[in-house]
Amino acid sequence: MTANILIVEDESIVAQDIKMTLEELGYKVCEIVDSGELAIENAMKFKPNLILMDIRLIGEMDGIEASTIINQSLNIPIVYLTAHGDEQTLAKAKLTSPFGYLIKPFVEQDLRIILEIALYKHEIQKELIEQKQWLSTILASIGDGVLTTDTNQNITYLNPTAEKLTGWTLSEAKGKPVTEVLKLIHETTRQPLSCPIKQVLEDHQLINLPSHTLLIKKDGQEIAIGDNAAPIYEYPQTPSPSQNGDQCTGVVLVFRDITDYKIVTQKLHRQAFYDSLTNLPNRRWFQERLIDAIERVKRNSDYLFAVLFLDLDRFKAINDSLGHLMGDRLLQEVSRCLIRLVRSFDTVARFGGDEFAILLENIHSREDAINVAERINDNLNAPFIIDGKEIFTNSSIGIVLSSNGYFSIDNLIRDADIAMYRAKAKGRGCYAIFDPIVAQEVISASRLENDLKRAIEKEELRVYYQPIFDLETQTIQGVEALVRWQHPQQGLISPQLFIPIAEETGYILAIDNWVLETACHQMKQWLILRENSTLSKVSINLSSYQCLQKNLSQKLSNILSKTGLNPSNITLEITETALIKDPNSAIIILNELKDLGITLSLDDFGTGYSSLSYLHSFPVDILKIDRSFINNLTKNKEGLEIVKTIINLGKNLNMDIVAEGIETNEQLELLKQLNCQYGQGYFFSRPLPPNEINHLING
Ligand code: C2E
Ligand code: CA
Ligand code: CA
Repeated sequence: MTANILIVEDESIVAQDIKMTLEELGYKVCEIVDSGELAIENAMKFKPNLILMDIRLIGEMDGIEASTIINQSLNIPIVYLTAHGDEQTLAKAKLTSPFGYLIKPFVEQDLRIILEIALYKHEIQKELIEQKQWLSTILASIGDGVLTTDTNQNITYLNPTAEKLTGWTLSEAKGKPVTEVLKLIHETTRQPLSCPIKQVLEDHQLINLPSHTLLIKKDGQEIAIGDNAAPIYEYPQTPSPSQNGDQCTGVVLVFRDITDYKIVTQKLHRQAFYDSLTNLPNRRWFQERLIDAIERVKRNSDYLFAVLFLDLDRFKAINDSLGHLMGDRLLQEVSRCLIRLVRSFDTVARFGGDEFAILLENIHSREDAINVAERINDNLNAPFIIDGKEIFTNSSIGIVLSSNGYFSIDNLIRDADIAMYRAKAKGRGCYAIFDPIVAQEVISASRLENDLKRAIEKEELRVYYQPIFDLETQTIQGVEALVRWQHPQQGLISPQLFIPIAEETGYILAIDNWVLETACHQMKQWLILRENSTLSKVSINLSSYQCLQKNLSQKLSNILSKTGLNPSNITLEITETALIKDPNSAIIILNELKDLGITLSLDDFGTGYSSLSYLHSFPVDILKIDRSFINNLTKNKEGLEIVKTIINLGKNLNMDIVAEGIETNEQLELLKQLNCQYGQGYFFSRPLPPNEINHLING
């Protein structure tokens, strides 16, 4: 494109001459004017590519003044024409940043060179300005903070984001040492971090900001930042680590606020590794710690650790009767309690439900682990007070020691599980240490669960019967049906071990039905065969599920008509737990059973929730005093007082009393003195298979 040139020259001969020359050189001349005012007017009108401006003009305004005004609104290169180059004029002209001077008179050659240089320079300048604008638009709009320093570590630039992040404006910060503007500390130690700028200047390499970097803003607020710092090199050198750095002119630091990102990652981390209810680490986290511990043993064979597996006793019952909210509260309380009972570097985790695991690191002996288990059970033994209610729980604890030589966590966890089930089988509030020899015979809970599925169809369940005696006449009055599982490999398994599994898996309904039918059938046999026996009742335990079945009375009358047993020959044993879960429905169902003529007995009385207020609204006929009270009966005065109170309470409500778990003659005598009518326990007889009951009735 040919350049368009405006000539400002008051000597018209000179002007015409220049015009001719320019046109010969291939330029276009848009206009010739002779005054500053016209120069401005035509510059605006034509926006020429260049102005040849005489300094001396006719009129008020000279060329320098006109150029100054033109420069204010247009970006047109100006070349001055002047006859005499006196210092003062030239100095004044210089202030308008002209693109060249032509001293009159000049030759065509001079004109050509000056114009070419001026147009070229202007083109370059335009590009530079455009690039600068482009760059500053980017720097102003990006979300990252950009900060630059010179080689003395003084701030040379902050982009708007950097201003926001540091709290400093560019004008405040410019020239200040970077360490004054960029105060960095370690997130956890809170120690000042070494300045990344300094390090870049020393190493001439791009470095990343260390994680855990906190930036303290001008107002003292703290934000987490991340990203990197890099050296700036002088053009045209290309940055490379091998450079000795002579050409480095400063450092650029790019950084961003990663507070939100950190919060999100921490949240995700918590979600992945922590239990939201108790704030304890979860199974995954525990397993990671366990892997570390096993590695430690591999490196140092003297290192000993223990894993405690904890399962709360009766948690399901508490959850069912008092509701999930209370259950949750209890889990939180238990978590707090557990943390209090171990050292700070031990790990307490919640595995889900009412299962907890504890990793005891660096212990000296198995006694250390036992001590902790005992301490836990002692502490859990005391009631938790939640919302003013006393809640009793306890835990069964399985202990595994690293000295068994584990290479994988799977085996370790499996063994802890086995030990825990052994502890459960011992009764409430017990612990068991995993013994590799015994364990060979013990199968894990999950196997049990699988086997339990087929126990009924494979006819592995048995009903044992424990006699209930009239204490005064010492004659058998009834029997309590107690289920047993004859496992093909395990032998006889106690209901304490498999009933909880059955309840969790829902097989309990089928099991209870089967026991109900079997026991009714058996009772009918005894009644037919032994007409003169005092044995007149069979007591059958009902799980809380069964108790709340709407069709329970229908089911029972079906069983009764099927087996031909009279309803007066059945007692159903129900626990308080089952009733309190839904008292209103329970009352309806119990009344239906009563209408059938069935006797109802409140089992384990005293161990649950002091539901005395409900007691008279439930149509129960018998109170069974829990074994634990009988156990304490002869131990101290309080033990005696409690039993006395329960017996009197029952009598006042017109109920019969059955004492459970009578083991000694002393207990029997005391109970008789307290006017307790009925009792059962090892003192009389253990639960027996039906054929042995036959002997008993005969004899
Ligand atoms: P429970 O209803 O309290 O049954 C009494 C438990 O005390 C029985 O344990 C019995 O063997 C035991 N026992 C009786 N006399 C003595 C004694 O003098 N000393 C000691 N230490 N223990 C004695 P078992 O048979 O292991 O049953 C445990 C629990 O399992 C039962 O407690 C009952 O809650 C449940 N259960 C048993 N059979 C069934 C069933 O068919 N259905 C349901 N739903 N639960 C059952
Ligand atoms: Ca019972
Ligand atoms: Ca009982």
